[in-house]
Amino acid sequence: MIPTLYRKLFFVATNVKYLKKSHPRICKCCLKKSLFISLGSSGEFQRCLFCGANLRYELMAEYLRYEYKNHLDRLTILELDPHSPLRHLFKNNPNYIRTFFSPHLQKGLHYAKRGRCEDVTALTFGNNYFDLVISSDVLEHVEDIQSANKEIYRVLAPRGSHLFTIPLHHGNTSMRAKTINGTLYFMHPPEYHLDFNGESGKILVYWHFGNNDITTLLEMENYNCSIVKKSHAQDYRTIFNLTKKM
Ligand SMILES: [Zn+2]
Repeated sequence: MIPTLYRKLFFVATNVKYLKKSHPRICKCCLKKSLFISLGSSGEFQRCLFCGANLRYELMAEYLRYEYKNHLDRLTILELDPHSPLRHLFKNNPNYIRTFFSPHLQKGLHYAKRGRCEDVTALTFGNNYFDLVISSDVLEHVEDIQSANKEIYRVLAPRGSHLFTIPLHHGNTSMRAKTINGTLYFMHPPEYHLDFNGESGKILVYWHFGNNDITTLLEMENYNCSIVKKSHAQDYRTIFNLTKKM
């Protein structure tokens, strides 16, 4: 396995031309006066030197501070990212759990430096437990999206929210790859996203979610999907909120 540091250095070396766009400003996630290191043309690849936040995490942090104000430390929170920049926002919250996925490790256990291992399609938490579930650019990598959606609904407390971002495409949602009898079939050319900390350094994209039908795809009875924040920049980033009614 290639060490994470080498993957990051290789990525920097191949995108060095964007470094000149790096600039200082206040980070909306950690609130520090920071330098935003640019390694790409979009907000996805411009990250705070201190906390690692990019555009979608800054949008998420802004919304969380606005919506939950002084209650952030009292919420029960599950975040599906062990390295999330939002960990700085919740550093005083004793009920904030970060998880990672590995097909090879036992679920529900805590692994040093990685966090708790969980499969979002079969979570090991009890019903109605979390006030908040957070996932940022995770769902497009989950093949069984309906099971993941139902599991998150199950562990959310009444009136709890699943805040999430996804890469959003124009048109309708399409599945790009599917496993049938243990064999992976591709309906479109394989697409991977960078995953510096993952076991292979990249992660398969199963879904292209479309702006036409994403809310109806994830809505269920007693589960409302709404858009709570959008970026104003040219980057089309959106924060969705699935709220459990009752
Ligand atoms: Zn920051």
